[in-house]
Amino acid sequence: MNERALAEALKRRQLQRSEELVEVLKRNGDDVTLSDFRRRIESLEDDDVIMSYITCSSCGEMFCSYEDALLAAETAGSVEEWFDNMEDHHHR
Ligand SMILES: [Zn+2]
Repeated sequence: MNERALAEALKRRQLQRSEELVEVLKRNGDDVTLSDFRRRIESLEDDDVIMSYITCSSCGEMFCSYEDALLAAETAGSVEEWFDNMEDHHHR
């Protein structure tokens, strides 16, 4: 996958899980509706979507560089393979 294809695949994944993700946001105090959430995903730039997947949501550290994320995508045929190609980020 190239950058465009990866970003599109990640957006599709978020849209498929949007009901579940909206529930999580609501529990965290974000008063978002399902249609707002879908619009939010669709308006994201490719690099914003990819960045959100390579940045740790708890400590803000990047799992890998943006270039490495794109390199890992080159040999991946799907988002699942892309996740497998990247190193895991663990907390001590
Ligand atoms: Zn972390």
